[in-house]
Amino acid sequence: MPLMKSWVESANAPDCPFPLNNLPYGVFSIGDGEPHCGVAIGDRILDVTAAEAEGVIALTDMPLFDVPFWNELMEEGPAVWAALRDRLIALLSEGAEERTKVEPLLVPMAGAEMHMPFAVSEYTDFYAGKNHAVNVGTMFRGAENALPPNWLHIPIGYNGRASSVVVSGTEVRRPWGQLKSPDHDKPAFLPSRRFDIELEMGAIVGTPSDGPITVQEADDHIFGYVLLNDWSARDIQAWEYQPLGPFQAKAAATTISPWIVSKAALEPFRTDTPAREVELLDHLKDCGPMLYDIELEVTLAPEGKPATTLARTNYKEMYYSAAQQLAHHSTSGCPMNAGDLLGSGTISGANKSERGSLLELSWGGKEPITLDSGETRTFIEDNDTLTLKGAAKGDGYTIGFGDSVGTVLPALADPFARG
Ligand code: MN
Repeated sequence: MPLMKSWVESANAPDCPFPLNNLPYGVFSIGDGEPHCGVAIGDRILDVTAAEAEGVIALTDMPLFDVPFWNELMEEGPAVWAALRDRLIALLSEGAEERTKVEPLLVPMAGAEMHMPFAVSEYTDFYAGKNHAVNVGTMFRGAENALPPNWLHIPIGYNGRASSVVVSGTEVRRPWGQLKSPDHDKPAFLPSRRFDIELEMGAIVGTPSDGPITVQEADDHIFGYVLLNDWSARDIQAWEYQPLGPFQAKAAATTISPWIVSKAALEPFRTDTPAREVELLDHLKDCGPMLYDIELEVTLAPEGKPATTLARTNYKEMYYSAAQQLAHHSTSGCPMNAGDLLGSGTISGANKSERGSLLELSWGGKEPITLDSGETRTFIEDNDTLTLKGAAKGDGYTIGFGDSVGTVLPALADPFARG
């Protein structure tokens, strides 16, 4: 699909992340103003809350955008999602008749503060990237037992915390937790020394379900995608994770990009999952291309220093699609709600330069990474800024998510110390 031209000139540049083809959903505020729903177009944001209040956008009898999150649109389902996209394209296309009505509803993106774009109903994180699972399994359990016996049959996941999902730009505090290094007999309560990133994509459920759904239904139910950094304290994780999986290691924070990119915008970038090594049971079988060709990158910037690219990878490296994860999630009859967030699992490519976590990049801390500044890292140090970037490259245009940025602040004083 070629670039769709907009009368917002900045949207037509080939490297602009927000062309008319994209139209991602966010929540923004200007100065002391209330947060509003907005859609990114070029270097502007269309104030959708104001557009609806003025009747420029009218999709349903009741307002959808009088609240600072996109869940009400999600709940309306695919027909209304498509109606909104059609209306936005009509309003913002080159030569649009209603341009004079829309121009006053645009605000400069540069002056906007971004907020959480949706209310996270629940958050589930998967472990569905094969290169990551093999790397981590090799480190934790040895090459012989790298992939657990279930791994090629189901996308493994754990129930994460919706309460600590934050939007890009939110500072992240190094967590305390119980750790036990192999050379100590007893655990100790300390700030994490092996705090890490996980480069992931997040899929957001739009249409609710109450009972098992097929992979095709699951794909239809997904509203859109965000970049997702699943911050992980590896030392807390190593001690706590057996037999029930990660708990406090993953609970401190999860950072998402400020913009939700709709499935419609990603449609030209659909790709197949890799060849199945073991035939999947019928309820999880692939039924069409449900991954996306999205180039991903993670950078690290020490305080006051330029950023170094740590890794580049691609969402198409996943073994399971978000649709397969959502279908699996529903098999027990578990209801899924609008605003449910599904983390893909860390996305690593086959090569060292494509690994989506410091755990893998530094091979458990044994192989320090040299930054452009000459400093080295095994895991995150205080005041480091970690940034995830994502882009789908179309024919003369780019689909972006906005970066997912987080600076890691030093741990607080011992929360349980008695003065
Ligand atoms: Mn994860």
